Parts: sequence; C-alpha cells; structure tokens
Amino acid sequence: MQRDSHAQMQVSSDKSEVAATADEQDRLSPQTDAQKAKSLDELRAVLGDCRRCKLHAGRTHLVFGVGNPNARLMFVGEGPGRDEDLKGEPFVGRAGQLLTDIITKGMGLRREDVYIANVVKCRPPENRNPEPDEVDSCEPFLKKQIDLVRPEIIVALGKFAVQTLLRSKVPITRLRGNWHTYLGTKLMPTFHPAYLLRNPADKKLVWEDIKKVMKEMQGETA
Ligand code: SF4
Repeated sequence: MQRDSHAQMQVSSDKSEVAATADEQDRLSPQTDAQKAKSLDELRAVLGDCRRCKLHAGRTHLVFGVGNPNARLMFVGEGPGRDEDLKGEPFVGRAGQLLTDIITKGMGLRREDVYIANVVKCRPPENRNPEPDEVDSCEPFLKKQIDLVRPEIIVALGKFAVQTLLRSKVPITRLRGNWHTYLGTKLMPTFHPAYLLRNPADKKLVWEDIKKVMKEMQGETA
C-alpha cells in the first residue's frame, strides 16, 4: 500500500514536471512572446537580442522593420540581405532603392508613409531561403507587426514571402497580380525588387500590380 501511494506520488510528481515543462515551453514560445506586445516598440523590446532560431548566429543587426506605425500600406519581403544586415534596416541596398522608387516615384508616397518588414528578421547565410523552423520562430513577430500596424493592404514581395504568407506552392507568376488575403488583410503578391534588377523587362508587370494597389487605396475597384 505504501509502495502504491509512493508510486502514485511519483506519477503525479512526474506529471507536474511534464506540465511545468509544457507551461515553460508555452511561456517561451514565439507566439506567446509576440502576443505580449501592445506597440511596435514593445514588440521590438520583446524580440530583444533574439536567439529563437539559428539565424541569430550570423547576423550583424536584427532587422525589425521601419515606417509609419499606422501605415495603410505594408510591404513584406523575405529577409535581410547583406546591406540590410549591416545597416539594420530593411530594403536599403540596390533592391531597396528600387522599392523606394516604386513607393516614391511610382505611388507618389514617401518611404516613411508605408511600413516595411520581412518574414525573418535576421540574414540567412549566403542569402539562402529561410528554413521552415526559422519561419516558424520568426513569423509570429511579423503577424504581430501586421496586427499592430493594421494596414489596409499588404504587398508581398517575391516568391518566398508570397508562398510563405499564403501557405501556397503555386508559382508567383500565377499568384501575382491577383488579390489574396492574409490574416484578414488584402494581400497583393508581386515580384521582388531584386528579381527586377535581374529581369528589368518584368518591371511593367510589377507596375500593373502596383496600379491595382493604388486603385484599391483610392477606394476604386481594381
Ligand atoms: S530570424 Fe527571427 S526568430 Fe530567428 S533569431 Fe532572428 S529575430 Fe529571432
């Protein structure tokens, strides 16, 4: 009998250890961490010196995001490249300049009118695609950024960002130019500016996509 009760205590103690471990994991999960934040500044503070995935090891700067915290329009790319990693700001290299031209010369907005972020916030080695576990760790922070900014429209830039956000394997050539939804927000997929640097003939396709975004922002049917 004593042995039984000892065994029971042992089982219940083991269970509470398992429960504590699960609680602990929940407290440390990116989703739970991200949900704590009530502003972009708080979200950045929650990220801190983030080591939630292996991309932390190769970064110079964590690239959180920039722009108007109440922007109507948000651009989302894949992840920081070399220039972005060095500066700590998204889309600042040659591709970034092209995005800035699209925003300023094409749309007649200022860069600081929109919000710009990436799916992952640390540069993948050799600019490889982020891996699924890295996306799982970092995407909750992007979701929270979107939740806090509450843009009317998201423009997803490039195959990786588009397919990741839409959970789709459909080629970007078929996804771009058509409206989709991400977390209840209208999403327009288009090519990444870095792709346009290599394929300038496709700039006209991006311009078609951007014109649809502008019409939607003006309240017209695109
Ligand atoms: S990519 Fe995101 S989750 Fe990974 S270390 Fe950087 S900030 Fe943290």
